[in-house]
Amino acid sequence: MHDPAVLRSLHRDRFNAEPGIFVAPGRVNLIGEHTDYAEGFVMPAAIDFATLAGISPRTDGKIVVYSENYGAEAVFEASALPQAASKHWSDYPMGVVSILAGEGNAIPAFSLSLWGDVPLGSGLSSSAALEVVTALAVTSLIGVSYPGPVLARLCQRAENEFVGANCGIMDQFISANGAKDHALLLDCRDLSFKLAPIPADVALVIANTMVKHSVAGGEYTSRRAQVEEACAVIASHRPGVTFLRDATVEDLKLWGGEMSPNALKRARHVITENTRTVAAAEALICNNMAELGRLMAEAHVSYSQDFEASCVEADAMVALAQDLPGLIGARLTGGGFGGCTINLVERAHAAEFAEALAGRYADQIGIVPQIHICHASGGAHRLS
Ligand code: ADP
Ligand code: MG
Repeated sequence: MHDPAVLRSLHRDRFNAEPGIFVAPGRVNLIGEHTDYAEGFVMPAAIDFATLAGISPRTDGKIVVYSENYGAEAVFEASALPQAASKHWSDYPMGVVSILAGEGNAIPAFSLSLWGDVPLGSGLSSSAALEVVTALAVTSLIGVSYPGPVLARLCQRAENEFVGANCGIMDQFISANGAKDHALLLDCRDLSFKLAPIPADVALVIANTMVKHSVAGGEYTSRRAQVEEACAVIASHRPGVTFLRDATVEDLKLWGGEMSPNALKRARHVITENTRTVAAAEALICNNMAELGRLMAEAHVSYSQDFEASCVEADAMVALAQDLPGLIGARLTGGGFGGCTINLVERAHAAEFAEALAGRYADQIGIVPQIHICHASGGAHRLS
């Protein structure tokens, strides 16, 4: 599916040089939404949509970045790296380069060609795939090697500090450290993780609602503020609580009355979601699919009603899946307000499930959705 030969030939034609080729996957989160910045748990899997990068050295002092997805090139001086974002796709790779430079790495001139099939802006983390593949390509060119978790943290910093998007660590972590046929339970506090095997007869069916409501950016910020408000109330009684990861539903019973109603609801989502995510990993490890499906259903209700991060289209996509053959569990995945749902489906029924869900969604919402039957893939690596 990701043939390095295609990118190699594109890179040769454009830059007249032989590239090293790298790949980094997108991801889908099975459960654990808006828990990463509360230092809680998430359980994503890397998927078989990915971004490829070809890299070769240059002798003219320039960094030339080309994206086949945009059919466009951006040019920089290796000796005068950009200090700030320019609201352009090249912010992602140049953010990574800038963070690597800040770590004391001398950045040489190079040509970087990029191509990816992670749908852009659909909640499958094309941005993290782009950052991680850039980091891998550039560090390999300069002969430096960072452990996967460190590489992920550098890429998150590129997105936070350079691009200016306030994301948690999940996306970059799974893109750098994913394992084929496994989901990964990540403790966002210390970045320790546990792999949970996805049975061969279970498919990851990703259903794109094809909508992304424009409130998403502002709402993400306000949700984080409400989560922090709730945490501050609990911490005023229990100083050991530094993030909602440390809080319990018992704390909410005791002190929820001191929070705004919205902060209370957001906190209830985050606290219960943490518990559900750990339980979901346990269910997956024990091959208890019924329990995993139940936890995913509960997670969707919590995300939609307490966190209020769903939308009509995503709620419909989840509801319409419920009685289709083979469904194990369905929920809205990613930052919210549109994007994709994740459906765990018995593989034998996956094609039929996808077709029926697409038909039902088109009939009810009037939009033809894209539905992808995915596998859990490995993390970023060198292809050739
Ligand atoms: P998501 O990560 O959910 O796909 P984001 O908005 O975080 O959505 O990131 C999408 C952005 O990442 C795109 O708008 C583009 O700027 C950048 N991007 C991702 N993949 C590529 C690519 N192959 N080439 C150039 N830019 C890309
Ligand atoms: Mg992103």
